[in-house]
Amino acid sequence: MRTVPGPTDHVVVVGAGLSGLSAAMQLAGRGRAVTVVERYAFPGGRMGQADIRGYRIDTGPTVLTMPDIIEEAFAAVGASMTEHLDLVPVDPAYRATFADGSALDVQTDAEAMSAAIEAFAGPAQAAGYRRLRTWLTELYRLEFDGFIAANFESPLSLLTPQLARLAAIGGFRGWERMIGKFITDERVQRIFTFQALYAGVPPQQALAAYAVIAYMDTVAGVYFPRGGMRAVPEALATAAAAAGVEFRYGSIVTALERSGSRVTAVRTSEGDRIDCDAVVLTTELPLTYQLLGRTPRRPIAMRPAPSAVVAHVGVPAVGDRLAHHNISFGGKWAGTFDEIIRDGVLMSDPSLLVTRPTAGDPSLAPPGRDLLYVLAPTPNLEAGALDWASIGTEYARQMVATAAQRLLPGLDDDADVLEIVTPADWARQGMAAGTPFALAHTFGQTGPFRPANTVRGIDNAVLAGGSTVPGVGMPTALLSGRLAADRVTGVVSDVSPRIISSGSR
Ligand SMILES: Cc1cc2nc3c(=O)[nH]c(=O)nc-3n(C[C@H](O)[C@H](O)[C@H](O)COP(=O)(O)OP(=O)(O)OC[C@H]3O[C@@H](n4cnc5c(N)ncnc54)[C@H](O)[C@@H]3O)c2cc1C
Repeated sequence: MRTVPGPTDHVVVVGAGLSGLSAAMQLAGRGRAVTVVERYAFPGGRMGQADIRGYRIDTGPTVLTMPDIIEEAFAAVGASMTEHLDLVPVDPAYRATFADGSALDVQTDAEAMSAAIEAFAGPAQAAGYRRLRTWLTELYRLEFDGFIAANFESPLSLLTPQLARLAAIGGFRGWERMIGKFITDERVQRIFTFQALYAGVPPQQALAAYAVIAYMDTVAGVYFPRGGMRAVPEALATAAAAAGVEFRYGSIVTALERSGSRVTAVRTSEGDRIDCDAVVLTTELPLTYQLLGRTPRRPIAMRPAPSAVVAHVGVPAVGDRLAHHNISFGGKWAGTFDEIIRDGVLMSDPSLLVTRPTAGDPSLAPPGRDLLYVLAPTPNLEAGALDWASIGTEYARQMVATAAQRLLPGLDDDADVLEIVTPADWARQGMAAGTPFALAHTFGQTGPFRPANTVRGIDNAVLAGGSTVPGVGMPTALLSGRLAADRVTGVVSDVSPRIISSGSR
């Protein structure tokens, strides 16, 4: 594996998002002096936060999976996750509701889920689910070390016996097609294919290998940290600081100094000049390449993932009428992906994610109130010429009204919209094409074909974060930090995933 040559005693990490925190902890644990420079006043990056009228809002991810990967970051500095973070299982992981009025609670426990599917769609679907669960677990087992948590030198490094096994179980076929081999009920199929949207690709076109995301949430389970999602980066930063990592918040990296093929110092908006032996950049790719003075050489343009509008809403407490995560599927499905990805228009029959973080921690809202997070996938700014400044507020109002009408009739009368975030806002935060989900996980932007974490012609700069390997999401951002650390120091240990039994938790 190609690693940074020469001294790597002091590493500057640009960005205190999950990838930067993970890289910093891995490097500190391996004896490096680490300085993290972050433009915001707090850690987390797009795992962001806002406190509005007594509500503690998480502006980014809501679905936390694979806590063992978070644990690995704590372990890198000899810290314990359980001492820093109070994670509780979310049960059901999701509540799925459909246009025909039916609903299914997605449960992590194999027996409970099997019984729920049997009651919902009959015994044949339940039997298919049990086989699907075994297949998803096998997919994860085959992919984790060899593909997800791996640094690639070239596409040739893919050619391993594991690749043949992955191909043999259908990893390179279509995601939706493979799910169809186990489950024929179209509603139940969606529970195991909608995650393609997390990868930024329609399930009809996505590789089955990405169904590993469905393993992560439907088999391994969904968790929530008390204190809200922000508790994760805050706890990681606390453990990192205790291990000696220096944090400089509120400081924007404006330039990198170079001497030949090495970055020698990082310059900030405060006028600081921080000497370094190596640098880990977790910034968005266009800024990364600009700081490095490089233009990526790619034969075809990169494809950004779709974007999203998020509305944060305060409502009178609704109790168990809403689960923690609620997926409200519209009647349309394949056409929905065409609308937002191909046609660049808003969904005509929207599918929405409605999260109630106060189900996991009521203290996130004032007494007697619930906090809701309503997310609608939308075109990114390259796919659609939508004028968010003029339509954003009205679209968010419609999203909330649709969610209320489907899930909690009458609620929108009492809904207090606290904050709306549109693709234009993501763009203002520096996110390319106005999407917080970086590059789509098309085949040509996967594994060794995704922008690499090393940079041609620069010896001691390593990239991390959603746009590089392995990709978008909390677990993958954390892994990208470890992969970046491996590029700096070489691999120090073989870290294998904890497989959660396909039988039950
Ligand atoms: C709305 C939304 C919903 C999501 N839902 C989920 C979900 O449910 N589950 C899931 O697993 N994932 C989800 N994700 C994706 C997940 O949040 C991201 O993939 C992950 O947090 C990205 O981490 P990162 O370190 O790559 O990037 P970032 O968090 O963006 O980190 C980069 C950091 O660099 C800093 N920075 C940028 N420029 C500079 C500069 N010049 N100087 C100094 N600092 C700089 C930024 O402020 C930021 O802190 C969601 C994301 C969003 C936004």
